[in-house]
Amino acid sequence: MYKAFLIKYAEIGLKGNNRYLFENALRDRISEVIKPLGEYIVSKEQGRIFVECPDSYDYEETVEAIQRVFGISSFSPVVVIDSTEWEDLEKGVGDYVEAMYPQRNFTFKVMAKRAHKNYPMQSPEICSKMGAYLLKRFPELKVDVHDPEVRLTVEVRNKSYVYSHAIPGPGGMPVGTNGRAMLLLSGGIDSPVAGYMISKRGVSMSAVYFHAPPYTSERAKQKVVDLAKQISKYTGKMKLFVVNFTDIQLYIYEKCPHQELTIIMRRYMMRIAEHFAEKEKCLGLVTGESIGQVASQTMQSLASTDDVCNMPVYRPLVAFDKQDIVDIALKIDTYETSIQPYEDCCTIFVAKHPVIKPNIKTIRNSDRKLEEKIDQMIEEALNGVEVINIE
Ligand code: ATP
Ligand code: MG
Repeated sequence: MYKAFLIKYAEIGLKGNNRYLFENALRDRISEVIKPLGEYIVSKEQGRIFVECPDSYDYEETVEAIQRVFGISSFSPVVVIDSTEWEDLEKGVGDYVEAMYPQRNFTFKVMAKRAHKNYPMQSPEICSKMGAYLLKRFPELKVDVHDPEVRLTVEVRNKSYVYSHAIPGPGGMPVGTNGRAMLLLSGGIDSPVAGYMISKRGVSMSAVYFHAPPYTSERAKQKVVDLAKQISKYTGKMKLFVVNFTDIQLYIYEKCPHQELTIIMRRYMMRIAEHFAEKEKCLGLVTGESIGQVASQTMQSLASTDDVCNMPVYRPLVAFDKQDIVDIALKIDTYETSIQPYEDCCTIFVAKHPVIKPNIKTIRNSDRKLEEKIDQMIEEALNGVEVINIE
């Protein structure tokens, strides 16, 4: 029955003179997600976006796709009446109520909008006449103009549109309106959630994954590709840089105190990530770290990692408990993939008793033990990168 969707957005409405940029980005992003599903027409008018559906389309699939577009506060499935004549309008709205609400013991209010000021009736008149018509056709209904259970909205444009319920959107801002960041994406629970959260603020994503073959398997890498695919349903297409980290890891293992391995490794991950971030014109790095979650995420450890970064490091989960992170992972459907038991390049070389409160100076001293070969190794890791385009 539904032939269109009316998209509403909240925050981007606040952007003053730049508003059209946000609206265009939202329109383009909606077009992008529904394009594979059919020939929809997406248009922007008067503070909202309309999606007109092709004659045959899959309702559930369309709703799911739209629900993943950041910037949407809510959207309403709309019935289109191919006329603006009053009799057609009455019949159309009445049929809508009959079809949508088999139980008609609710209170309602009619709301009306007209796009053309030369339409023979003004909005309040449309509301009262339509209300009266509905009460006559469905005597079980009751009007409540203050707190109705159903708000029935009628919009008269070149055609007429009726809708009465709203599906929540994800909120946030359209991807691409706030620059780009580089996500350090591991196969764990946290980093996909971190990428999702930053992207929700309008940031486009690129990602980097460090693997350590043969210590980590092809299947572990595939898991990261799968996670990237899942979050790209929200973030849009992204490039995934897969860096072979084995030699660097072995070298750190050989030269540095084992209890500092994770921290020093993390410093090199950051440095290499930053290299690709610059190439991709990213404005920051994103990680899934959270204060105190593990030894390498105490405030001292985070400071030791930040020590080598020139770019801002965004850690959207920094104050989240694990369960809060898991809840989001479940919501965005990354959890099941994340908990697949494949080895992680960091856990393989991990020490039994890692430092919990590393001293930056001590870490720098250990880092210097790598001087001889590390630049060459980084160079090789950069050159050997595999780039995967995630659509
Ligand atoms: P996650 O669930 O995201 O793996 P975690 O709790 O396992 O996080 P760590 O393994 O300490 O935490 O990693 C902290 C952060 O460092 C990750 O959230 C991720 O951003 C980054 N990171 C860790 N390992 C890798 C890797 N192999 N490739 C890319 N980034 C990584
Ligand atoms: Mg991890």
